[in-house]
Amino acid sequence: MLNGGLPMNAIDLHCHTNASDGLLPPAEVVAYAARLGLETIAITDHDTVDGIAGALAAAARWGIEVIPGVEINTDVPEGEVHILGYFFHDGWRDAELGALLRRIEAGRVVRAQQMVQKLADLGAPVSFQRVRELAGGEIIGRLHVAMALVEAGHVATRREAFERYIDRHGPAYAERFKLSPVEACRAIARAGGLPVLAHPLGDMTDGVAAIADLETRLATLCAADLVGLEAYYPRHTAAMTDQLLALARRFDLIPTGGSDYHGPLPEKADLGSVYVPRRCLRRLREAAQ
Ligand SMILES: [Zn+2]
Ligand SMILES: [Zn+2]
Repeated sequence: MLNGGLPMNAIDLHCHTNASDGLLPPAEVVAYAARLGLETIAITDHDTVDGIAGALAAAARWGIEVIPGVEINTDVPEGEVHILGYFFHDGWRDAELGALLRRIEAGRVVRAQQMVQKLADLGAPVSFQRVRELAGGEIIGRLHVAMALVEAGHVATRREAFERYIDRHGPAYAERFKLSPVEACRAIARAGGLPVLAHPLGDMTDGVAAIADLETRLATLCAADLVGLEAYYPRHTAAMTDQLLALARRFDLIPTGGSDYHGPLPEKADLGSVYVPRRCLRRLREAAQ
């Protein structure tokens, strides 16, 4: 089917809801996908599967397919690596995976409290209660600490908050509970899911840099049950997609893709705006059997 001369996209394997840092509730994301004419979306919230039950219920109402997924944020010395997980069958309810995700969430709260304490010691006090309010139910993070610092008048901008206090080398920076990319792959695979490396060339709208020494990283992750690599992604040039498709072939990985939808945000891509070939989904399904 054609849509303004372009192939109409049917599949989006990377979508966030307000269970993590997306703007829309799961049922609204699914309803929007149905209105756009999408056939299949995967719900891949950061470090949580809390949005999946609502999305599956809405999918049944709207007659589209929702694949249960997750996007686990992991840490490496140079920055962050995100690992997507797909299918799970019923494994998204897996107790061990659930416990791990709750531990990540608790670790973020502890980390925010540690940063607030360090800021107090540095003479730039903000209230933890206010940081939590600014997160507004989202995953609490450094951004909300930065907002509290601006609000309290300690800095003029969020950027200054990062530069003076909370960037990786800042005096109020605190480490969070860390998971390595290998640990995330293994946790997903243990719960019956398919681990996929997200946006290897980075997501600059989210401040996630390209993965350093990608080929070495891929070799390590392939030994930890990685099955796919996200090759179709917003703002990729054809050359970037080709580079990732070539790597997927070399490492015998399934190319996947999606919009990394976060809701109606001007800096983020729209749902279904990235073309994902049907054969990618077919190969994932086969691997999930
Ligand atoms: Zn990501
Ligand atoms: Zn994402």
